[in-house]
Amino acid sequence: MTDFNSFSLLPTILEALANKGYTSPTPIQEQAIPHLLNGRDLLGIAQTGTGKTAAFSLPIINRLFTDKKKAKPARMRSLILTPTRELAAQINDNVKTYSKGLGLKSAVIYGGVAQKPQVEAMVRGVDILIATPGRLLDLINEGHVLFDQLEVFVLDEADRMLDMGFIRDIEKIVKLLPAVRQTMLFSATMPNDIARIANKLLKNPERVEVTPESTTVEKIEQKVNMIDGTLKPIFLKHILKDQSIKSVLVFTRTKHGADRVVRHLEKDRIQSAAIHGNKSQNARERALGDFKAGKIRVLVATDIAARGIDISQVSHVINYNLPEDPKSYVHRIGRTARAGRSGVAISFCDESEVKFLKGIEKLINIKIPVDKSHLSMHRN
Ligand code: AMP
Repeated sequence: MTDFNSFSLLPTILEALANKGYTSPTPIQEQAIPHLLNGRDLLGIAQTGTGKTAAFSLPIINRLFTDKKKAKPARMRSLILTPTRELAAQINDNVKTYSKGLGLKSAVIYGGVAQKPQVEAMVRGVDILIATPGRLLDLINEGHVLFDQLEVFVLDEADRMLDMGFIRDIEKIVKLLPAVRQTMLFSATMPNDIARIANKLLKNPERVEVTPESTTVEKIEQKVNMIDGTLKPIFLKHILKDQSIKSVLVFTRTKHGADRVVRHLEKDRIQSAAIHGNKSQNARERALGDFKAGKIRVLVATDIAARGIDISQVSHVINYNLPEDPKSYVHRIGRTARAGRSGVAISFCDESEVKFLKGIEKLINIKIPVDKSHLSMHRN
């Protein structure tokens, strides 16, 4: 398993990642970060949810801190263009978290809110500017923004930019950027128009592609049991009585929930282990190793702990709790259809989770079939 320590990132950044609970890089991070740290341009085919924000922000933070230049008034040393204000705000939050303690300055510029604070933020210059194209152009036209110190440019979600009609704005902005710079372009898809823009923007880029996990959803047999919360432990054991089920990843919402499930299974001598942020790195690696080697059948995890871990032989994913964020559901069940395999995903949904189920079904555009086998199980 690769970990972040294998990249030459500053210790302060590694510390920030550990504090955030990231144990290992996601595939896009693993593939992109080394090239970006080498100063290469990058074409990243990846969508939101893959960890692409950290993939581009970490090398930027590392570079800007290391070369210790200071932004002059109205200048930025790196520009991240993204289509929506939600994404801009989210990227800024991430940048702040990852660069904690380094003293880098970031700012956001997007429409729909007062312009004055954004103008004021630019007055002294910033290290990292995250912006949506329309409002940025307004500020450029009013003379509040200059690009002669720009070193790194990121065009995020390029295909959505195209859909939202931002391409002309982007072209205007790009014309103002210094020719010598590091450029990254991220897009979930690669229609011709984007390929053409990529050709113009990028110099000898590395190409990195990660398959969106959502495309595997169709291959997975999904079902949901509408079950009372108190019956979940018994039903889990009931499912595990089927010895043909060899490797099961169980997701719980909380770390304590994960420990509770393991204690419960152990009472019935079902070998299991939990991985989550309260366990030491050693304990997590041991649990993962035992699971991969088939020594334990059941691995119980929280979303955070399971991100980025690559286990290709999982046959069943059980959502002991449904996740609040529907994207997490896609990530979770994507664990069981790796490398062309098919898999089974069973979700336990109690009354309080019906709203999460609705959100999930809306996202994946599939009505998950309801299974009633818990109604006929023996409760001993
Ligand atoms: P993004 O695709 O950048 O929007 O990231 C999706 C989610 O994954 C965000 O909630 C990030 O905080 C989280 N994330 C990014 N990298 C990692 C990692 N290496 N380990 C765990 N979570 C991560």
